[in-house]
Amino acid sequence: MRLVLLGPPGSGKGTQAARLKDELQIPHISTGDLLRAEVAAGSELGLQAKEVMARGELVSDEILLGMIRSRLSREDVANGFILDGYPRNVAQANALEALLASIGQPLQAVVQLDVANELLVERIAGRAKAEGREDDNPESVRKRLQVYSDSTAPVIGFYESRGALAKVDGVGTLDEVFARILAALGK
Ligand code: ADP
Repeated sequence: MRLVLLGPPGSGKGTQAARLKDELQIPHISTGDLLRAEVAAGSELGLQAKEVMARGELVSDEILLGMIRSRLSREDVANGFILDGYPRNVAQANALEALLASIGQPLQAVVQLDVANELLVERIAGRAKAEGREDDNPESVRKRLQVYSDSTAPVIGFYESRGALAKVDGVGTLDEVFARILAALGK
């Protein structure tokens, strides 16, 4: 299955994507994780992305498309993939659509995790303590939520207009939300 998970920072996308990977036996592709790996490796790309990420802004569409194109050219995506963190704006959604069309592998499902803003701030604060991510400070979190509503929320409409969107309530236990996602996917 070729799947996109959409949702604001703190909505549980990453956690649910990791579970889906085990359930569906397809790779979990998190652009945040790919970028953090570049930063940790100190690559040219990582150096470019580091400050942007720490501020909670979006890394350039060009860098992201290159990363996604190269990741989707690997053999382990033959049976599908779960995209987490991409696309994050309408330009990326268009680029992804074109890329997938060019390899004859269009998306089969888009799941949007719905969580109210107040709860997101609370969840990210909890995660900041546990993981110590550089971009989980209050200023960057505010910025990421702002970027989500300005740039990423329109992606919901993009997929809605293609009749491809399933909305899932992201409030509940991890098991409850996971069961809802599977149900939305018809599994
Ligand atoms: P979260 O969902 O908690 O914001 P992610 O791990 O998905 O965290 O992303 C962390 C950061 O990586 C983002 O704030 C952004 O700077 C960068 N990033 C990840 N995916 C993209 C993308 N598709 N386009 C641009 N920047 C991205």
